[in-house]
Amino acid sequence: MTPKFNRIILKLSGEALAGEKGFGIDPEIVKVMAEEVKAVHDLGVEVAIIVGGGNIWRGVTGEKMGMERAQADYMGMLATVMNALGLQDTLENVGVPTRVQTSIEMRQIAEPYIRRRAIRHLEKGRVVIFAGGTGNPYFSTDTTAALRAAEINAEVILMAKNNVDGVYNRDPREDDTATMYNELTHLEIISKGLQVMDSTASSLSMDNNIPLVVFNLNRPGNIKRVVLGENIGTKVRGK
Ligand code: UDP
Repeated sequence: MTPKFNRIILKLSGEALAGEKGFGIDPEIVKVMAEEVKAVHDLGVEVAIIVGGGNIWRGVTGEKMGMERAQADYMGMLATVMNALGLQDTLENVGVPTRVQTSIEMRQIAEPYIRRRAIRHLEKGRVVIFAGGTGNPYFSTDTTAALRAAEINAEVILMAKNNVDGVYNRDPREDDTATMYNELTHLEIISKGLQVMDSTASSLSMDNNIPLVVFNLNRPGNIKRVVLGENIGTKVRGK
């Protein structure tokens, strides 16, 4: 039971907290996520979580409705904060100490993002939830995961996907001949146009040599399996 990594970034999309309805926050699902995180935390692994907001709001949706993109993106960033607070509450209920840090200051409800302080929390065994994305419109929480991974020297990004086992050459939901890759590089993802992260996140991960494991979040115990180095999902090499 020796973990393969000491410090990880777990990327949870907003969808991961939404349950079957596909929107909003499902407390039962969040509890399951919290238990999965606890299992990894109990191994002594330092865990930072980047949470998305797509279960509540996406900037591109607002843009399609005629809103200014930047304004709509700020709404998306606020959505990630709601998810972060829900996740924090549930993690603390299962006995995991946490801190939320936001990239846009909202001091009454969370700490502002301070890199050194985030690292200190991790060293003290607190799970740090990074909310608010990068704090900039036109970016995504995938890019935030790559950025924070580089900043805090995380050894890997665990990219948890909803009901998909890894990265496929074609969409497995539409094509049953699609095959899953065991291993890829960020450059291959970009050049083949594979749907893993957006291209900004992929190139930032490539430039900073950050490995990724893409795996199915919906199989119980999977986060722990990845941390213990089991061969599941698709590994994306830094270089
Ligand atoms: N967002 C942003 N800048 C960031 C991160 C997120 O503007 O650095 C906004 C963007 O509008 C995005 C929304 O927040 O649509 C929710 O984030 P994301 O789509 O990455 O969430 P996920 O798909 O992981 O649920």
